[in-house]
Amino acid sequence: MYKTGNVMKYKSTRSTNGEAVSAAVAIKNGLAPDGGLYMPESIPTLSAGDLAELAGMSYPERAARILSLYLTDYTEEELLADCRAAYAESRFPGGAAPVRPIDGDVYSLELWHGPTSAFKDMALQIMPRLLSRALKKTGEDRTALILVATSGDTGKAALEGYRDVDGVKILVFYPTDGVSRIQKLQMTTQEGKNVGVRGIYGNFDDAQSGVKRIFSDAAMAEKLNASGVFLSSANSINWGRLAPQIAYYVSAYCDMVAAGHVAEGAPIDVAVPTGNFGNIFAAYLARLMGVPIGRLICASNSNNVLTEFLETGTYDRNRTFHMTVSPSMDILISSNLERLLYLVLGAEKTADYMKKLSEIGVYSLAEEDMAEIKKIFVGYSCDEAETAENIRTAFTRYGYLIDTHTAVGYGAARKHLAAFGAKRPIVLASTASPYKFAPAVYSAVKEAEAPEGTEALLALEKLSSVKIPAPLSGLDEKPILHAETIEHTAMPEAVLAFAGAN
Ligand SMILES: *Cc1c(COP(=O)(O)O)cnc(C)c1O
Repeated sequence: MYKTGNVMKYKSTRSTNGEAVSAAVAIKNGLAPDGGLYMPESIPTLSAGDLAELAGMSYPERAARILSLYLTDYTEEELLADCRAAYAESRFPGGAAPVRPIDGDVYSLELWHGPTSAFKDMALQIMPRLLSRALKKTGEDRTALILVATSGDTGKAALEGYRDVDGVKILVFYPTDGVSRIQKLQMTTQEGKNVGVRGIYGNFDDAQSGVKRIFSDAAMAEKLNASGVFLSSANSINWGRLAPQIAYYVSAYCDMVAAGHVAEGAPIDVAVPTGNFGNIFAAYLARLMGVPIGRLICASNSNNVLTEFLETGTYDRNRTFHMTVSPSMDILISSNLERLLYLVLGAEKTADYMKKLSEIGVYSLAEEDMAEIKKIFVGYSCDEAETAENIRTAFTRYGYLIDTHTAVGYGAARKHLAAFGAKRPIVLASTASPYKFAPAVYSAVKEAEAPEGTEALLALEKLSSVKIPAPLSGLDEKPILHAETIEHTAMPEAVLAFAGAN
């Protein structure tokens, strides 16, 4: 059964001889010193018996058990306490990760019942607790400054997760014209004595590249250190973000079996609306652990860099950046793809491709390497019209309301069924509450212009008779606390000023 006493160490995706570190250190550092991402040295496995045992547990118990296989320097008691607090009914009313049928073939894994109505809460409600413990476990006495680049949902979820956590400050950068009105309001009204929010002129990749550059700036680190501050990340490049996401795919399988949607041991396919490749990579890890998952369906919006990669083996970020109704997927550099390359190709080739990506923005995999990936991953993209049509179809035909991101995933699932037939039930990661993108969802269903502001939420509620999540109602009445917008080139100064190190 579970191998107790096993120690899991973590290595960089770019180093063949680098030092292996504990989970606490990997979570504390976020990014490896060589710019690579931390990966466990081995993938723990779950037997059929383990899955059966997990099926009898609550969500917090399932999550704690999965985490205990990876975070071996945390005790089971610590993890269980953290998961119970993070995934409590009070934070996730209606359950942390329930599975609901949409149509006869596709099942929605609802990951948006948390405090900010997006799936990022699944990781960001627990990760601050894991970081807090990591600081103690590693004897750290400096303040951790969490830097976040966000295309919308991570920012709010991180702010909510880290607000007023001792020993931690958090500064969030978002593209000022690249997020929805509600996403912006959620962030600019954020309360908490340790939080900062800055809009930047530029797109998400500008924000993300800016943050990455700051992380690898030694002079900056020195200045911060002199003020008793070090940098840490909450982006999905941090292992502490990814590990908790594995749990809901394991959980979904247990629930699919329990509900009789799939026979015990028989495979499901999983469809994931993808941006940074974090969520779908967590599904891949669940698959490697032994959860019966066949195909991983990678869904993209008009920013279809991953669809093209999965088709051709060429990753090319030199393309037009589209602003879509699914802004959390408006991404041209899918950072976590690096972790997949590492598992399939090893560190040396990965480092090489990542160098190419940063220098010329494009790399191509050898055919045999790509064949490995294609055995499991398949990509589809949906443009804006298709996204709207998917929302309309899911609601008018099946009475199930989905947000714009989930709609891209639903479209990909339908395209996969059309291409391959319904061989296996598909679990679709539903990544946001439809209310988070109310105007786009409303106009997709009604094929008409949506009302302005809060009216859009109310109109959608009236139309669908699905209740507005409590944290989203009343946003308009909250005072704006963070109005500042800066050039993306000014991000380093903003960090130093926020840290009090300038
Ligand atoms: C972040 C996000 C995604 C993309 O997830 P990745 O892990 O970056 O692939 C999809 N949908 C929503 C609503 C999100 O917030």
